Amino acid sequence: MIESIRCPNCGSIAERHHLSYLAQVKTQCEECDYLLVMCTRSGHVLESYAPGLPSEPRSPIKPTASRFLSRTRDIAIASKI
Ligand SMILES: [Zn+2]
Repeated sequence: MIESIRCPNCGSIAERHHLSYLAQVKTQCEECDYLLVMCTRSGHVLESYAPGLPSEPRSPIKPTASRFLSRTRDIAIASKI
């Protein structure tokens, strides 16, 4: 079961994974690499990682470059020969 929560570190949308078979709850944020793994039985924090907020904004993910250049035209010319 995955629950959407607010990251306690940066405030972005983070994911909380309920790992019932491990009796663990894992909270992770892709925005700032925040990680918290907690045991639901004992309430103990097993693993935690809370990085500082990035000082410079991350470059947005570039869309994959399209490769529709003049390839089809070249093939069309070649077929006429
Ligand atoms: Zn975060």
